[in-house]
Amino acid sequence: MSLRLTVHRGTRQVGGCCIEIAHPAGDRLILDAGRPLDAPDGATGLLPQSLDRSHPATVLISHPHQDHWGLVEELPPAWPIWTGSGSAKLIAATADITRHPLTRTFQTWHSRSGSFAIGPFVVTPILTDHSAFDAYMLLVEGAGKRILYTGDFRRHGRKSVLVDRMMGNPPPNIDVLVTEGTNLGSDKPVTTEAELEGEFVDLFRRTGGRVFVAWSAQNIDRTVTLYRAAKRTGRMLVVDLYTADVLDRISPGTGVPRPGFSNLKVVVTKGLGNYYRRLGMEDFIERMVPYGISAKKLVGGRHVAMLRRALIADYQRSGVVPTADDAFNFSMWRGYLSEPDVAEVLEWCQARGAEVAYIHTSGHASPADLRAFAAAIRPRVTVPVHGVKWDEELQGFGTIRRLADAEMMVVR
Ligand SMILES: [Zn+2]
Ligand SMILES: [Zn+2]
Repeated sequence: MSLRLTVHRGTRQVGGCCIEIAHPAGDRLILDAGRPLDAPDGATGLLPQSLDRSHPATVLISHPHQDHWGLVEELPPAWPIWTGSGSAKLIAATADITRHPLTRTFQTWHSRSGSFAIGPFVVTPILTDHSAFDAYMLLVEGAGKRILYTGDFRRHGRKSVLVDRMMGNPPPNIDVLVTEGTNLGSDKPVTTEAELEGEFVDLFRRTGGRVFVAWSAQNIDRTVTLYRAAKRTGRMLVVDLYTADVLDRISPGTGVPRPGFSNLKVVVTKGLGNYYRRLGMEDFIERMVPYGISAKKLVGGRHVAMLRRALIADYQRSGVVPTADDAFNFSMWRGYLSEPDVAEVLEWCQARGAEVAYIHTSGHASPADLRAFAAAIRPRVTVPVHGVKWDEELQGFGTIRRLADAEMMVVR
């Protein structure tokens, strides 16, 4: 009798991850309960049909991106849910800002927790490099077998050393490597987060006026990159209340910039301010006031200022409108440019003559790094997930077991 592995969803798509590991004793672990990226807003009943909800299971969430945790509210209430301590805070921040406060609570591990037992399983969360903060690979041992799930990872972010170290001293005797393959099929080179910092420095130096930047508040690596580039060029980084909220929640005990750091201010806008007051978070707004800057202060300034659609109305009311002296940088995946909210932001800057730049790097490993990682781990079998180009890109991953969604595999 051995472990049984079932990828309920994710063998042929990016996101919506849900992976089951069943022990011969009957215990089950579920790795991720992700929302499919193409699920319409408000849609429910999205857990994979093949996931048996009539028996107990324990859920492990690899990292705080919704395509890995977005269905936790649909899980049976009796199932315990585990994730990293930082990840739990970011999931709560997302739930609060989207006004779907969580009813579920998480049990948490810390990045230095090491291994712990869940029933007959031994679980080792391994902190890794990804565009999400507090992202983990998960090593699961049971019934004499060892399965390593990569979650989402890369090797060119600010924590790349974690992946390099793991490759230099890989966990031995991995029977199955369940690996993501988001960037397979693209040959575009990946820029490191450190190289991005240099590109931002160049942009900040050649721009006479302000630099507006659109980036994800939860992409902490990018916030750090922007903060450092702003500091190097004598500019102030201005974040919105939501980004300040995210930094305020996760930065204690880390070196991550936060409200109170030099070169960082929080633009307290009416829209987001009212939003947080309605959430009952007046104390948070009060705490941010000493680090606040009014939108009016951005008029004629040289700030590096966060920009998203929700800020445009507040900016305009305060006289903040892009000019030909300003620049706009879109620092997220290009695919989002077709979304109306993002297109509006781009148009707002472009129509007024601001230089438009695209400085960004992927949150996922390059095809070369995916293959180098698999080669370093030397698993007996590789199971592909979280990608759409796997079938054309199977070479270089050793022995592959190409599962279908919901197909059960006995780990031998
Ligand atoms: Zn993902
Ligand atoms: Zn992710």
